[in-house]
Amino acid sequence: MTVTRFAPSPTGYLHVGNLRTALFNALIAARAGGTFLLRLDDTDRERSRPEYAAAIEEDLRWLGLDWARIERQSDRLDRYAVAAERLRASGRLYEAFETPEELEVKRRIARAAGRPPVYDRAALALAPAEKDRLRAERGGHWRFRLDRERVEWADGILGPVSIDAGSVSDPVLIRGDGQVLYTFASAVDDLEMGITDVTRGADHVTNTAAQIQIIAALGGTPPCFAHHSLLTGPEGEALSKRLGSLALRDLRAAGTEPLALLSLLARLGSSDPVEPRASLAEIAAGFDLARFGAAPTKFDPAELVALGARTLRSLDLAAVSGDLAALGVPEAERGAFWEAVRGNVATRAELSGWWRICREGPAAPPPAEEAAFLAEARALLPERPWDGGTWAAWTGAVKAATGRGGRALFQPLRRWLTGLDHGPEMARLMPLLRVTPPADG
Ligand code: GLU
Repeated sequence: MTVTRFAPSPTGYLHVGNLRTALFNALIAARAGGTFLLRLDDTDRERSRPEYAAAIEEDLRWLGLDWARIERQSDRLDRYAVAAERLRASGRLYEAFETPEELEVKRRIARAAGRPPVYDRAALALAPAEKDRLRAERGGHWRFRLDRERVEWADGILGPVSIDAGSVSDPVLIRGDGQVLYTFASAVDDLEMGITDVTRGADHVTNTAAQIQIIAALGGTPPCFAHHSLLTGPEGEALSKRLGSLALRDLRAAGTEPLALLSLLARLGSSDPVEPRASLAEIAAGFDLARFGAAPTKFDPAELVALGARTLRSLDLAAVSGDLAALGVPEAERGAFWEAVRGNVATRAELSGWWRICREGPAAPPPAEEAAFLAEARALLPERPWDGGTWAAWTGAVKAATGRGGRALFQPLRRWLTGLDHGPEMARLMPLLRVTPPADG
């Protein structure tokens, strides 16, 4: 059975880049009828915050990305201790004592000698007494002894990948202060939680080589890995510069349609066209990792806004009735109101302007030069209640009485009733209007 996970660190708010990872993993599980887990990578006690963890859950719920179970790495420290003990016993985890400064000197020497700046494993040669002395003096950290061979995997997006583990330093898995680092905790979790598919950003490719070896050293079979390209801004600039404005909570506050955001991110960077979709199931149905390319993917907020409007317009009444109820639209009129205005709103926030016109009348008076015409038109206005035929009957009568036609007929009447020069079909809107304005403003 397919099991995927989204594994953010609760050290900040989620942004569109994180969402891409979350969504891909949710879609892979959904397509396969599998399980999608939310895992909080919170072993960094200083930087992880409960409020960020809560925000991650809230943001994912807003988007309708449901997880089967939540796991917290901070609850699993005993599991990492057991796994570390196994690696120690098999000689794959060794204690090292270099300070950051000493490591920097080693790297500089290696570079000067034309060698790659890979940790030299000097700690492996230390005698027990020397280790005791260094441990007492400065404390030690724990490194994973990589097998110096090529690590290869068939990446779900990048295709065949081959990394020379000999060109990578043995990764530190446990810090001097005991903190278990992501590389290790994640590998233990992926193994013990039965994760079958790991999809994440291309910045993790080197970690993958180490994690494949860690999982194998723990007796497991690595999951299928896929690394998606990173998002950039519309000009190809690093998205990090814009992340402030692309946090999911900011997009939510700006009235972003969740389904538009999901529809966009599920196709951006793939060979499939971006189309507004009505549900996550619909998005999942056409989703295929193999259709994504390795090149950086441009994210343009303007495209999101446009897709948001298309998405909103395609929604049925049930999807907006909560917003209409909040505006005070009576239940009996919600369907008629939504049909009238759906083509004229780009965001849900714009619903209120139209409802105000329906209940409170036009936002602006008509131009003074139309006063005589409007007085005549007002006298011909049918009695309420108005229905879907009122506009045609009324404009027909006004046309017959005044001789006006076309734009010169319709425009001033629309303007008089709504205060605007454009908007929903008047035949649909008229039955919803409660205010008959004075003809002379
Ligand atoms: N906590 C890691 C991150 O946010 C997870 C990476 C992974 O999916 O393994 O980058």
